[in-house]
Amino acid sequence: MNDAARGGPEGAPMPASQVYRRLLRYAWPYRGMYFIGVIGMVVYAATDALTLYVMKHYLQDATTLQHNAGWLKWLPLGVLAIFFCRGSGDYLAQYFPAWVARAVVKDVRAELFLRYLNLPTARYDVDSSATMLSRLTYNTEMVAGATADSLTSIIRDGLQILVNIGFLLVIDWRLAAMALLIAPLIGWSIGNINRRFRRYSARIQNSMGDVTRVAKEAFDAHRVVKVFNAQKHIAHLFEGANEQNRRSNVRLLQSRSSSNPIVQQVAAIGLALVLFAANREISSGVLTFATFGTFVVALMQVTQPLKRIMGIAGPLQQGIAAGSGVFEIIDAPGEPQGGTTPLGRAKGEVEFSHVSFEYTNDKGRVLHDINLRVPAGTTLAIVGPSGSGKTTLASLLPRYYDPTAGSVLIDGQDARSYSLTDLRRQISLVSQDVVLFNDTIRSNILFGAEDVSEERLRSTLRAAYVDEFVDQYPQGLDTVVGDRGMTLSGGQRQRIAIARALLRDTPILILDEATSALDTAAERHIQEALEQLVKNRTTLIIAHRLSTIEHADRIVVMRQGSIVESGEHAGLLAQNGAYAELHRRKFSD
Ligand code: ADP
Ligand code: MG
Repeated sequence: MNDAARGGPEGAPMPASQVYRRLLRYAWPYRGMYFIGVIGMVVYAATDALTLYVMKHYLQDATTLQHNAGWLKWLPLGVLAIFFCRGSGDYLAQYFPAWVARAVVKDVRAELFLRYLNLPTARYDVDSSATMLSRLTYNTEMVAGATADSLTSIIRDGLQILVNIGFLLVIDWRLAAMALLIAPLIGWSIGNINRRFRRYSARIQNSMGDVTRVAKEAFDAHRVVKVFNAQKHIAHLFEGANEQNRRSNVRLLQSRSSSNPIVQQVAAIGLALVLFAANREISSGVLTFATFGTFVVALMQVTQPLKRIMGIAGPLQQGIAAGSGVFEIIDAPGEPQGGTTPLGRAKGEVEFSHVSFEYTNDKGRVLHDINLRVPAGTTLAIVGPSGSGKTTLASLLPRYYDPTAGSVLIDGQDARSYSLTDLRRQISLVSQDVVLFNDTIRSNILFGAEDVSEERLRSTLRAAYVDEFVDQYPQGLDTVVGDRGMTLSGGQRQRIAIARALLRDTPILILDEATSALDTAAERHIQEALEQLVKNRTTLIIAHRLSTIEHADRIVVMRQGSIVESGEHAGLLAQNGAYAELHRRKFSD
């Protein structure tokens, strides 16, 4: 669907060979481990040759009843030894490359996740988070097939094929040459199968993304789904994605299932050619039965690895398609990291200078030439109808977005001149929809902050009125809040967010409808906490309840992306303009 088409690997420009080389680069650090596997492969292939060699001599000596061939006595033990070596080789050849494949999956996944964390906000606005998840889980898993697994098959089965063919050439080069006549045919079918695999793999991947997207949206909105009785509707959407996924998988299966019969058929052609040539050689007495028997066995032994090499084409192509989906994100531009102007703790002066902003070209500007100076340590309140651009204006401060024109200044310097980390260290944000992590209340408040004394934590809890409800839980601060904090009320979540901001103690604070989820009683409490919170900090407070902003040093009224009024509470009321109008309406609510 829409986002799958945009982010999908089908449109990715990177050629398959390049993706493959890049995937192999992830395996390079583990080449030592991989090499142990290669030793195993060599041992395994060598035992193949040894078996053939022993068999040929056994047939020769046993059929001609040469009793002086004393080595026959040792054969049973020899077989045990050969198979022990073969088994050990097999173990090494399987375990170590698979170990490398898992390491690669982990590394690719870690890099992708880190990349996601640093993608610009604008990218999160358009990409579905479920598609992101699908790449993180499904795509990275597929990558294993393309790296170590395919390499393993190519080396191990390739070795086996080479050894067996070498053997064929040694015992009867004419017959071997006949058999090799089919090589181009095999090359052609492998190429053909690869192409089809790649096409279907890309489709499967996109449909996987769609399946997770529909499912995740349904889970996230489960309450809405229930009250609207929309289960059927959602199930129908899901069926579409699910069916698409099945169909693409079936196509892939079709290719995969036909690859084996094709190999068999081609091998049969080889065998027929060999038999044809052998007939003449046997009748002219050039070929003994022992040689011919061994020859046929060796030829049969080629078909097994050949089958596996063709079987790897699927996972390989799936891995390449998945890899290109992953690299598309890894190569996507991250957030601009900002300049090098040093910034310890800012004084906190904030200025918007001729700031205009648009989210997307076709939607046009949502902020028009905003000019606004907030002296350090003062409180600015922003009011205005919903959709007037209040949140957008505030989100320019931590550089979620950069202005389309004009600049945001902090302590008189363009915000872009500081490093992004330094800049964001100055800013706390409490917003309307507080998202908590499925963790304890304590870690949600600390949120990575270290060296916080129990005493300081306690006083923060008191100030944000968190202790009021936390003390009611038997596990107190160690209560787990559930998925996105859903076991708490909106007001409780907001108080946790306020505590988090208090603890962080930044010079700049943004409260975006931070008290909207609180009831009036709680808000009165919080009011005091907020008064503590805004002291000595530059505060941008966006409030739909006007009671929270009457004490602001300055109030601006926004409408359709512009500032239409500005001043103090009393003065603005006296003006009897937009603010007075808002004020009247809110109080009649
Ligand atoms: P407010 O906070 O005052 O209610 P916003 O700043 O959220 O208003 O929105 C201002 C305008 O920008 C609205 O027209 C809204 O549709 C649009 N808008 C908000 N967020 C986005 C976004 N992520 N992508 C595109 N448009 C957006
Ligand atoms: Mg808003």
